[in-house]
Amino acid sequence: MTLPFNVFPLNYMSMKKINIMGYTQPQLEELMLTLGQKAYKGGQVYNWLYKVRQYDFNKMTDLTKEVRQRLDKDYVFDLLELEKELVSQDGTRKFLFRLSDGNPVETVLIPGGDRTTACISVQSGCALGCRFCATGSMGLLCDLTPGEIVGQLLGLRERFGSDVFTNVVMMGMGEPLLNLDNVLKALDIITDETGLCVGARKVTISTSGINPGIRKLADLGLKSRLALSLHAATQEKREQLMPVARSYDLDSLMETLRYYTRKTKSRVTIEYILFKGFNDSMEDVKALTRLLQGIPCKINILAYNPVEGLDFIRPTDEEVDAFARKLYPRLPAVMVRKSRGTDVNAACGQLAAQRQMRRN
Ligand code: SF4
Repeated sequence: MTLPFNVFPLNYMSMKKINIMGYTQPQLEELMLTLGQKAYKGGQVYNWLYKVRQYDFNKMTDLTKEVRQRLDKDYVFDLLELEKELVSQDGTRKFLFRLSDGNPVETVLIPGGDRTTACISVQSGCALGCRFCATGSMGLLCDLTPGEIVGQLLGLRERFGSDVFTNVVMMGMGEPLLNLDNVLKALDIITDETGLCVGARKVTISTSGINPGIRKLADLGLKSRLALSLHAATQEKREQLMPVARSYDLDSLMETLRYYTRKTKSRVTIEYILFKGFNDSMEDVKALTRLLQGIPCKINILAYNPVEGLDFIRPTDEEVDAFARKLYPRLPAVMVRKSRGTDVNAACGQLAAQRQMRRN
């Protein structure tokens, strides 16, 4: 039985049973061996979960009746429940999901030219408290399991069809490198040809700059892309925006990026949100240029997406373009990213933070 996206019932979940969503293929093969089956049967269950999206063990017709009953007795499909959906005038869709423990999770679907990007969350809330971010104001509520990370994409496919997104960015709520084990399992399922089959280079992990996590990704030979939320080019300004900068200062972060690009032989994407009157001066252009010298990267400049109750000021599109033009001759790859979904609070965490405030 496949279920419509917005009616995943909570009674599918049980504390007594084990959640099977998010199991990787090797885990399912292991499970089948424990049930006295051949390992390849795990691949069949994997196909049912992530390709067919069949959430009824009794309809997994290539398993024996006995295996179906054993699975049904011990396992459950812990699916996300859709609480709210907003559609922007520019076509951006924002989803607020509820996890089985009641915590909120945001997912955004962003159409743009020949690609549609699914921006997914890896935690509910976030511990890092970036000053410009609504999610940061919530604190960390919980880490998402691999099933909850992948479940956001499965939910989108359930509702809109298998080709609903072409790219995936882990740039929603939370810091991926502080939930790395679960993120890596989810990444495995997302990029696996027999899983969600999204090309590895079409998936981006975005970090605020957690050095040990970046080094681990480098050592693992990450095939997907890495983005760094930089947002300021001096230690002093970065600390004002992002408390995490006190733990991982700019010098050590740049050293880590050099290590990453050497090891993976790929460049990183530098995200730079422009705040009017804070990080948009000629001094900032020069500092950014100095900082990124010799690091293979491309830079995305984007205007700050206002968050209710915060004092930062959004620059005009002309001011963003002017900043990028000053940067361009100094650094090789500079892109201006247009803000999307501003009329539906598409900046990270705004819906969930509003929900949390209402509850409190
Ligand atoms: S910007 Fe990212 S890392 Fe910073 S608080 Fe928000 S979710 Fe966390």
